[in-house]
Amino acid sequence: ITIAILKESSQGEKRVAIVPAVASRLTRLGAVLAMESGAGLASTFADTTYADTRFEPKATKLVADADIVLAVQPPPVAVAKAMKPGAVLISFVYGANNPELVAALQERKVTTLAMELIPRISRAQSMDALSSQAALAGYYAPLLGAVHMPRILPMMTTAVGSLRAAKVLVMGLGVAGLSALATAHRLGAITEGYDVRPETREQAQSLGAKFVDTGVDARGEGGYARELTAEEKARVEQALSQHIAEADMIVTTASVPGRPAPKLIGAAQIAAMKPGSVIIDLGAESGGNCEGTKPGETVTVGPATIVGPLNVPSALAQHASELYAKNLLNLIGLIVKDGALALDFEDEVIAGATLTHAGEIRNKTVRESIE
Ligand code: NAD
Repeated sequence: ITIAILKESSQGEKRVAIVPAVASRLTRLGAVLAMESGAGLASTFADTTYADTRFEPKATKLVADADIVLAVQPPPVAVAKAMKPGAVLISFVYGANNPELVAALQERKVTTLAMELIPRISRAQSMDALSSQAALAGYYAPLLGAVHMPRILPMMTTAVGSLRAAKVLVMGLGVAGLSALATAHRLGAITEGYDVRPETREQAQSLGAKFVDTGVDARGEGGYARELTAEEKARVEQALSQHIAEADMIVTTASVPGRPAPKLIGAAQIAAMKPGSVIIDLGAESGGNCEGTKPGETVTVGPATIVGPLNVPSALAQHASELYAKNLLNLIGLIVKDGALALDFEDEVIAGATLTHAGEIRNKTVRESIE
């Protein structure tokens, strides 16, 4: 079985789908590896560190005879069109945003396993790249906040008196939010967390944080949150305003599947924040959790600095690639049997992740958004 690994072509993307250690695991399983020249360079992995791998400078040539093609971001349409029928593409695809790519994969009869569609079930945890990458993004958020703050995070005793520890509020306690709470706690901040799923109370507390109870329970399907009603929003706003006003740093990570990021912080709440306070809005990618967030930019709004970072995992490209590669390895283990492709579409994980197969768009949401 031949596996091709693409060099990422999206602007600012430094990750690579396969790191050298995972490449060795794949060759030991009997796979023949071919890689686009320089694919690992931006994430610190030079071509020479990949053993038993063939390098090819032209992506369309690279994929022409590959059984499996691996990437992080959605590949260029021209690359999809160069794949052989029946081959498997595994990458993030975000089909609803990339209809031209989906059409090419469909027409080409490529089987596409979209990483964002891997079901969030226990058995699939080792293949869940949304989680592995969110854990890193969450880790990074308080560090980013720290360098934008005119004060320090831990309590510090000096010869001329003591400095108070900073207060960090994390809103949205999924994978990224819990990871952010852990970093902020390690850096010595006083931490608070808030979410609309009640089970996050204990999770926050186990990381040394206080849980801000708004009395709202908005558990949705599959462990995710649902959108809040207007009345719930008002209740949350009332319960949180004081905490927002007292925070030195806020990290927001809230999202609701298939919807724009919920707005958690309004203009009046930002105006009431402390001078020099910082918001790191990890929701920036899907529009932002704060009024005033500019995706990809750092802006000053009244007393606060709002940072809206994009593609945070790419900033940690070495480790992000390492985890992503392991997610891919586990998924490949599920679709290769005795050295040949063997996709079991009865398998919940495969069925859930399949975006295109045999000339069809298998995912209902993407199909409906395109038609
Ligand atoms: P996510 O990125 O979709 O959302 C982040 C957080 O925002 C969630 O905790 C959500 O409850 C919260 N949120 C949404 N609206 C909000 C609002 N108005 N105010 C405050 N918070 C709001 O979530 P995620 O990190 O991908 O994970 C969500 C859930 O899925 C968690 O329960 C997690 O444990 C579970 N999960 C399971 C698996 C698995 O079993 N394989 C993998 C990953 C995540």
